[in-house]
Amino acid sequence: MMIPDDQSSRPASPLLEIRGLNLDFGTPRGRVHALRNVSLDIPAAQVVGIVGESGSGKSTLAYAVMGLLSENAEVTAGNILFEGRDLLDMPAHARRGLLGDRLSMIFQDPMTALNPVRSIENQMIDIQHHEQRSRSEKRTRAIDMLHRVGIPDPQSRIGGYPHHYSGGMRQRVCIAMALLVRPALLIADEPTTALDATLEVQIIHLLKDLQGEFGCSVLFVSHHLGAVAELCDRVVVMYAGEVVEQGTVRDIFHNPGHPYTRALLECDPGRIRQKTRTLPTISGEVPSLLGYKKGCIFSARCPQAFDRCHREIPIEYSIGLEQTARCHLLDEKRVVLV
Ligand code: SF4
Repeated sequence: MMIPDDQSSRPASPLLEIRGLNLDFGTPRGRVHALRNVSLDIPAAQVVGIVGESGSGKSTLAYAVMGLLSENAEVTAGNILFEGRDLLDMPAHARRGLLGDRLSMIFQDPMTALNPVRSIENQMIDIQHHEQRSRSEKRTRAIDMLHRVGIPDPQSRIGGYPHHYSGGMRQRVCIAMALLVRPALLIADEPTTALDATLEVQIIHLLKDLQGEFGCSVLFVSHHLGAVAELCDRVVVMYAGEVVEQGTVRDIFHNPGHPYTRALLECDPGRIRQKTRTLPTISGEVPSLLGYKKGCIFSARCPQAFDRCHREIPIEYSIGLEQTARCHLLDEKRVVLV
């Protein structure tokens, strides 16, 4: 007897699946291995944060998904599956067609993301080029979206130029533009870095509300752990081009399994309870990504490193139902292999 294929009981495929991604940059000094064996999922309607120090590969990964890397970048292995299709195998025109439609991005600096010589109105109408609507309908949608992101008096302000808006207001305009196309996946690359702390909180709350309302998935790149804890469902921790740990926000913030994650949390100013004049830092520096690396990528800075760490690259171990980390200590504790 044939057993019926019960599709409803299957877990839905993630919206974005990155599998074993290796990416190099060719430079006069040699090949920089900017991403090594990166694998992660972004489920539908979830917010996934990517954290790590500068040089960890967070933004490179975001730009790789968007297909916006410089010409000297080369993917040497792996796949980026979006809605089941490998972006890396797609013809260039098909991939470009996804941008500003199914995939949308908010950049770090709103001033450079907007065109300074075109009005906000024209830019917001241009971005709707996939839509079969009249110009006046597109303008009405743009005004409505500006209103939703908190731009006061959008009817009269939509005719202004980027320099007529403050930094926080410009980032709100960028968020409005990114959501206007109703993307399935929104990539936000350090969207609050250029803003002060008060505006940062406002923008994070705005993103959270709008993500709930529109139901899109978000890949949120940030070095700010507080913002990630506030906004995200899952967290991916990157170090020197590798994913060293990933799990739910609760897992990562309450039960970190990797020494690097623990060090990052200990250095987070938002978690320091005692008065101090000097903020803690992780001693040492992120290693050069030129050439081949032996052993664990964090071994030169890890307070718990032992012999094996300098010889063998750690594999990925499962810590809990949804948490994994790459550290030999987890093998020593006999954690189940993934
Ligand atoms: Fe530290 Fe070794 Fe674990 Fe790497 S594998 S994080 S060096 S203990």
